[in-house]
Amino acid sequence: RVRCESGQNRSGLLCEIRTAIRSEPFTERYDVTPGRELGRGKFAVVRKCVEKSTGKEFAAKYMRKRRKGQDCRTEIIHEIAVLELAGACPRVVNLHEVYEMASEMVLVLEYAAGGEIFNQCVADRDEAFKEDDVKRLMRQILEGVAFLHRSSVVHLDLKPQNILLTSESPLGHIKVVDFGLSRLVSSSHEIREIMGTPEYVAPEVLNYEPISTATDMWSIGVLVYVMLTGISPFLGDDKQETFLNISQINVSYTEEEFETLDESAILFIKSLLIKEPESRATAEDCLKHQWLQLTEQDLKESICEPVSPDDEEEEEEELFVMASYTPD
Ligand code: ADP
Ligand code: MG
Repeated sequence: RVRCESGQNRSGLLCEIRTAIRSEPFTERYDVTPGRELGRGKFAVVRKCVEKSTGKEFAAKYMRKRRKGQDCRTEIIHEIAVLELAGACPRVVNLHEVYEMASEMVLVLEYAAGGEIFNQCVADRDEAFKEDDVKRLMRQILEGVAFLHRSSVVHLDLKPQNILLTSESPLGHIKVVDFGLSRLVSSSHEIREIMGTPEYVAPEVLNYEPISTATDMWSIGVLVYVMLTGISPFLGDDKQETFLNISQINVSYTEEEFETLDESAILFIKSLLIKEPESRATAEDCLKHQWLQLTEQDLKESICEPVSPDDEEEEEEELFVMASYTPD
């Protein structure tokens, strides 16, 4: 057990975890699948592995404890704590085990076999998501984000690379990953200066203003835009131009990609890409938005079609979410 005074420190990092940190060599219990890694970021490499005792597949996130000469164990502990906190939410990737070696820690995560939604976002339009796919996936992303926000956790790096799929074809369910930039916003201390990915970053982050759950909602707005059109709405030729586009809310809704979409999709995006954080729709608001309501057709299909085992599982999942979401 790792403890600290109040369970959180001044910079919005959680510092108490209940997962046992294992010190035996990781490879004693897992076979690391040779070949291509699942992904990599600045300080982490993710590899597929198989638990020897069960034959189950997992994703191992190897994280260096020292980065740029700084000890980052506290940040890794925070990431573990957030994964634990979201353990009851099926929209967030599950943490199985944690290993610690001399210079790195390994987070053994539930394996999301469908990979990043990034691939479909940048695909040719015929291979890209259909509007109905985006609606379904967006509902799931919002369920995950609403869960986090109810726990005062802001993700701060919501983008297609950090939203994974349980399967690609048929299109499965989403899993939110990567809590490396996430923070707790309930603390009395204001959080500023955390920098996500230029294209997805909210105006208040650029202006060094306080960060809140609304900061994630801006990124959700950019994310929906990209998922529906394949266009990154604020991307400029360089970082400076991107930042200028964001701070001026220089965004177009007249691209031809919008022509075939439901008009309420544009209203949905417009309710998020708003400069003032307090005016943006919350995750709960978004789930109630007209664009995401099930149509009569959706309902008819769900009633008339024989329930496949997969659907049944999904239904149980939803109930579970509802039950575990009840605020006290
Ligand atoms: P970083 O903090 O370095 O961005 P991430 O947690 O985002 O680390 O992981 C990097 C990449 O590894 C992800 O974008 C994704 O492609 C892949 N990845 C991460 N977790 C999983 C997982 N549970 N299952 C499959 N792939 C994963
Ligand atoms: Mg990432």
